[in-house]
Amino acid sequence: MQAWAEAQRLKKRKIAFVPTMGYFHQGHLTLMAKGRQLGDELVVSLFVNPTQFGPGEDFETYPRDTKKDLKLAQEAGADVLFMPEAPTLYPDGFQTFVNLNDLPQHLCGLSRPRFLQGVATVVTKLFNIVKPHVAIFGKKDYQQLAVIRRMVKDLNLDIDIIGAETIREPDGLAMSSRNAYLTPDQRTPATSLFLALTKAKERVATGEKDAGRVIAAATEAISSHPGTAIDYITICDPDTLEDKKYIEQPVIMAIAVKVGQTRLIDNMCLMPPETA
Ligand code: AMP
Repeated sequence: MQAWAEAQRLKKRKIAFVPTMGYFHQGHLTLMAKGRQLGDELVVSLFVNPTQFGPGEDFETYPRDTKKDLKLAQEAGADVLFMPEAPTLYPDGFQTFVNLNDLPQHLCGLSRPRFLQGVATVVTKLFNIVKPHVAIFGKKDYQQLAVIRRMVKDLNLDIDIIGAETIREPDGLAMSSRNAYLTPDQRTPATSLFLALTKAKERVATGEKDAGRVIAAATEAISSHPGTAIDYITICDPDTLEDKKYIEQPVIMAIAVKVGQTRLIDNMCLMPPETA
């Protein structure tokens, strides 16, 4: 992979990169389409990264369909589908991790303490292997995108990071490989994240400034569905992810909820009327 990437660079070919954990849906394919536009060569990686899963999380059961993914990536115009094995990326003796001080102290980092270290480490490794000029990430995983942007800046990585809008099902549910876990009767509770965010966006666009009231309304709307357990509902600064009490600038409202055993996340940017 490194030799191929180096050869492309010598030919002045621009490499666009989309890292994924596979089980492709329209969200992944939209990132690939963007990569296709932005680069001369498109590399997609498929690696279910063990270091970003904690004990008791779904590493073993994470949905996988390599054959279908290969076909979908080809159709999306990928030049390379890079599928390393875990022992290749993490051989015996591996002991170097990338850690951020503050960004992981919010949102998913609080309940998934290894997650962002695992993401930052594997993405750094993949960047060094794929040598991209530009890499595309989804805003659906907002904290992940914030961590990668910060890490690229802090470590002077010479890569443009592009954030792509969240792709949704017709009922608003953010597309996710984990949606495959949902049973038909979990669909309505799952869609309540999107509905609560949409409602919050409307409230803020029409003048609500009190983050606590917006969060309370969303909490009520989601927890009224049986089988839901809220991990967090937060209104935070788009860059630092620190909590905001009053909404005077665009903010991010981020939600994580367990519906049955499935952990779902979603977020939206809320804009007060003076900034819209
Ligand atoms: P994953 O395979 O879930 O690790 O995701 C790979 C990339 O696709 C990440 O940059 C995600 O943020 C992005 N992604 C996942 N779901 C969506 C979605 N519904 N819309 C846009 N991007 C997404």
